Amino acid sequence: MADINSLNDIWQQILSSLSEELTPTAMKTWFSEVTPVALTGDRLVIHTPTEFKRNIIEQRFADKIKAILGELFGGAVELVVLAGDEITDFKTAQEVDTGLPEIAGYTFDNFVVGPSNKFAHAAAQAVADKPGSIYNPLFIYGNSGLGKTHLLLAIGQSIHARDPAAKMAYFKGDEFANQMIRSIREGTQEEFRQKYRYVDLLLVDDIQFISGKMGVQEEFFHTFNALYEAGSQIVITSDRPPLEMLKLEDRLRSRFESGLIADVQQPNLETRAAITRAKAIQLGMNLPDDVVDYIAENITANVRQIEGVVKRLTAYRAILGDNIDVEAVKRAIKDVIRVGTYIPTPDVIITETARYFSLDPAELRGQRRSKTTALARQISMYLMRSLTNLSLADIGDQYEGRNHSTVLSSIRKVENFIRSNKDISNTVRDITSNINSRN
Ligand code: ADP
Ligand code: MG
Repeated sequence: MADINSLNDIWQQILSSLSEELTPTAMKTWFSEVTPVALTGDRLVIHTPTEFKRNIIEQRFADKIKAILGELFGGAVELVVLAGDEITDFKTAQEVDTGLPEIAGYTFDNFVVGPSNKFAHAAAQAVADKPGSIYNPLFIYGNSGLGKTHLLLAIGQSIHARDPAAKMAYFKGDEFANQMIRSIREGTQEEFRQKYRYVDLLLVDDIQFISGKMGVQEEFFHTFNALYEAGSQIVITSDRPPLEMLKLEDRLRSRFESGLIADVQQPNLETRAAITRAKAIQLGMNLPDDVVDYIAENITANVRQIEGVVKRLTAYRAILGDNIDVEAVKRAIKDVIRVGTYIPTPDVIITETARYFSLDPAELRGQRRSKTTALARQISMYLMRSLTNLSLADIGDQYEGRNHSTVLSSIRKVENFIRSNKDISNTVRDITSNINSRN
């Protein structure tokens, strides 16, 4: 979620509008120490160090700021100014309140609906309106960057807005495993269970990262059942449908399939244009039609990239003024697509492969020769060869006592396995897609 930075972008937008009317000295005096804190639904929270400055900001500038916000969002937005250490209380209250990660903008209002996501959106909205009663669990799947996390968190925000006392928990698939393993090591299993078993809403993002061993799935199965029986709502996202999650225990698969399964697909041209426009408006830009069309026609696979291009354009605007044209867009697209061509690091490949086999990454890099370790090591070498530009010798350097010829023979072995052994070819495919979801 690190790439969601609309809070800062919006604050910058407000500052630049304010500076059109205020002198540089006034800007510096009142706003140089202000930081934006949160933007949720219809409320912007900012912070200033002193009570005195808060009073001035509230008396002299609040109306103006609200007017700018109103223009940006097309509706009334409340302004809350925190002073001094009120910020600490605010942050703690927020965490305790929601159990959701800090998010700005992942709301239903900000979600553009089109044929590709209409069903998932309607299902998410229905779940937010009547949690625990109609579609339970709701399972949303689709490729990366198509709005799964956005919908998941919009459900959380919407329920929280209506019922601030509702207890929620959010985690990504692999965090569950990590936390569980840690709790076993530290003897805090009971706290770990409490954290997830007594909530009204459980949001699980990227469940594909739940790995096949060490009782993780079993623990999750019990958590799931406990919540389900208590009438709590469960929402799960994944990059593939339950049927294609090959290492998933059957009983979990059938639980996932017992609710509603909804997919998000690539948006069509019209939806891409609408998303481009919406993202630009959120960032305080009004893009000409030919620019919007160019973006929508050229960025087809991933909404995250559309957002990236629009953000890049905000940066250009500082230099180009309002003359954002198709040439500028071409440049922005080049930057974003280049960044978007993801090449995983050897570390990520080793970590993901190890995790899949419930091994320690150090075992893969080392000399151990047990059957599983050897296979996992060979697969990781094969993946390094196919997903990166590393030479055989470079790959060998990642492991203890391997040179280019041992690497080559490992890769050959895996290639043969992939042709002859369905289980191994599925494993390689699963790990590849886990690696790519790390992007
Ligand atoms: P996923 O979880 O499927 O990988 P995200 O939910 O993180 O994707 O979406 C990637 C980015 O694209 C987010 O910033 C999200 O707000 C945005 N996005 C995706 N779909 C839409 C949509 N239909 N309308 C508006 N923004 C969207
Ligand atoms: Mg996501």
